[in-house]
Amino acid sequence: MHTIMSPCDLAPAHIRAIAPYQPGKPIAELAREMNLDEAAIVKLASNENPLGPSPLARAAAIASLDELALYPDGNGFALKSALAARLGVDMAGVVLGNGSNDVLELVARALLAPGASAIYSRHAFAVYPLATQAAGATGIETPARDFGHDLNAMLAAVRDDTRVIFIANPNNPTGTLIAPGALHDFLRALPARIAVVLDEAYGEYLEPSARAPSVAWLTEFPNLIVTRTFSKAYGLAGLRVGYALARPELADLLNRVRQPFNVNGPALAAAAAALDDMDFLAETKRVNDAGMAQLTRAFTDMGLTYLPSAGNFVCVRVDRAGVDGIGVFQALLRRGVIVRPVANYGMPEWLRVSIGLPAQNARFLETLAEVLG
Ligand SMILES: *Cc1c(COP(=O)(O)O)cnc(C)c1O
Repeated sequence: MHTIMSPCDLAPAHIRAIAPYQPGKPIAELAREMNLDEAAIVKLASNENPLGPSPLARAAAIASLDELALYPDGNGFALKSALAARLGVDMAGVVLGNGSNDVLELVARALLAPGASAIYSRHAFAVYPLATQAAGATGIETPARDFGHDLNAMLAAVRDDTRVIFIANPNNPTGTLIAPGALHDFLRALPARIAVVLDEAYGEYLEPSARAPSVAWLTEFPNLIVTRTFSKAYGLAGLRVGYALARPELADLLNRVRQPFNVNGPALAAAAAALDDMDFLAETKRVNDAGMAQLTRAFTDMGLTYLPSAGNFVCVRVDRAGVDGIGVFQALLRRGVIVRPVANYGMPEWLRVSIGLPAQNARFLETLAEVLG
């Protein structure tokens, strides 16, 4: 007699142990499940830009459709040179990704393996543990401080086998921000053999004075990898484009584990155009600042605690009257409002809500008040 084995049983244990990423619920899915009209649903669950895509990016994507039969430029020359010119970096130090999620995975694939470890903070972006685990490396989660990164704890967690440290600044889902001086001290204190991924997915939402001079730091720290995305402030989440900036030697290593055509043609065209759309970025920030004020003022009026956020989302504590974040999330869903529970981030009492347009924010607030009674 022999046991029937499946390929799943023979998959590496570190792959079988991966907990799937939990994305925000799509509008169409909720409409199907609850028999609701899609137009009546408000989704504030995935930190998407409520203004839609930049009009310049949209036009560039449409213009690129005639070339759908062709493979895209695997080196992304036009987008990389636009980024290099804008940021004042060497084109050889730019790595393009199918979203910055892809770039985070390239880092894990290139630098991590069984026997290596990566450090990330509690309540930090969920992709760091996922990418670490998929590479068969050991994840080290350091305790948070006021829901943000405790850089001293991260330094103290460094082991001989540590290869990568992931830092989201601002962090998702907590919205916490590390001051530039503290980050710089951290980079100086860290052994140069350890790569630091500084994930700036929400950097465009910061006041210029709060932004770390991370691009300038690339010359000082050969172990620094800065990642950014077109998914959030540029409004192109559906196209999937992000990038990493690093010293050419390190960028070259990441490019070696990249799929040759990982960024598609419309995405390359749209991202390059979005980069020039300064008006759209400014309007995005204006809408976000106003929406953040609208939500946080209402939370205060409702007696709810929230985490001051530097991103395009905010976490609010909703555990009242015996319900937790999941309970409130589900009650909101039944009323056609999608937000994000963050129990999987170790925050079962909280919900994360993305900043929407004024009417979307108002609809969320009214519905929340109704649910909390
Ligand atoms: C949204 C997000 C990303 C990546 O998004 P992509 O769409 O893959 O570019 C990366 N890091 C953080 C912290 C995020 O919140």
